[in-house]
Amino acid sequence: MGKKTVLITGAAGFLGSHLCDRFMKEGYRVIGMDNLITGDLKNIESLFKVADFEFYEHDVSTFVHVPGNLDYILHFASPASPIDYLKIPIQTLKVGSLGTHNLLGLARAKKARILVASTSEVYGDPMVHPQTEEYYGNVNPVGPRGVYDEAKRFQEAITMAYHTYHKLETRIVRIFNTYGPRMRLNDGRVLPAFIGQALRGEDLTVFGDGSQTRSFCYMDDLIEGIYRLLLSDYPKPVNIGNNSEITIKEFAEEVIKLTGTDQKIIYKPLPTDDPMQRKPDISKAIDILGWTPKVDRSEGLKITFDYFKSLTKEDLYKKEHNTFEKYIR
Ligand code: NAD
Ligand code: UDP
Repeated sequence: MGKKTVLITGAAGFLGSHLCDRFMKEGYRVIGMDNLITGDLKNIESLFKVADFEFYEHDVSTFVHVPGNLDYILHFASPASPIDYLKIPIQTLKVGSLGTHNLLGLARAKKARILVASTSEVYGDPMVHPQTEEYYGNVNPVGPRGVYDEAKRFQEAITMAYHTYHKLETRIVRIFNTYGPRMRLNDGRVLPAFIGQALRGEDLTVFGDGSQTRSFCYMDDLIEGIYRLLLSDYPKPVNIGNNSEITIKEFAEEVIKLTGTDQKIIYKPLPTDDPMQRKPDISKAIDILGWTPKVDRSEGLKITFDYFKSLTKEDLYKKEHNTFEKYIR
């Protein structure tokens, strides 16, 4: 029997690159695809030497062709941080909708199983806490975050339609805030923002009064959950995240302690539609996948801080991701 082949979109990004590593380690042939709009080839450069890895630079919102057999597709291509998707809103809508449609079509043609990366953002600013998969969410379709949230909601709807109508094997993971090495320091998400500020000797910017909550999952735990979900037979959405909840102000204090910085917390306006609370109900992941998060925040933060410390001065001070200009037409 030959090796199974998996196509991973968003392969040069934070989560996609860790998925490539994991599937290589499990003995798969991995095809990575990415247009590098928010990703970086540095994240996967070690894989280019390996025979069972191939990479295609391609925008998946346009027709996707891959020669040969495919067993699995993991669709992770999409800007994921609020400042990224506010800068490239149309591309965000397209990759969640047209991109997902193209990959579902490819999965159908190849008779492959597809797992799509959805998000806790489908719950919007939630009125149910913690969030269960049954909760329909509270999303403002025309607010600034709507481009991401609604693209992901459409992604779930079309994925389920391919499952029920075409009998395609589909999986949907609802990912809650995940962090770890290879996040872009300048991607605007709260963890790289705070650690970057601490390393540059800047004050930490808490948005609003910092009473909003998030629940942060270390990437190794998330990747394990995704791996198990892909190999399960469960087609409905499953929350994967860490259910240890913290306010953003407390989180800033943790980062100050971890980094040993003398900087203070300063307060900036809360962005429009910023969810006030977020914590996954992970009963389904526990029951169906036998999965629980293993890495606690203090351990995960330490590993991530060590990674950010190892970056160059150029990375630390880079304000913009340099490929945006090339892609915004
Ligand atoms: P990321 O920005 O690091 O990675 C996304 C990758 O997708 C990048 O390499 C980017 O270049 C690529 N990409 C974007 N549009 C593309 C297109 N049209 N064609 C080809 N490639 C394209 O973000 P991430 O945190 O790794 O997120 C990966 C996926 O996980 C996304 O779908 C995101 O919505 C989802 N997700 C992530 C989190 C999280 O906390 N990290 C939470 C919820 C959902
Ligand atoms: N946030 C903050 N300071 C920053 C960046 C983000 O206080 O410099 C807040 C943001 O307003 C939100 C939370 O941190 O309440 C998480 O933001 P992030 O962009 O990481 O992800 P979100 O969960 O909002 O998609």
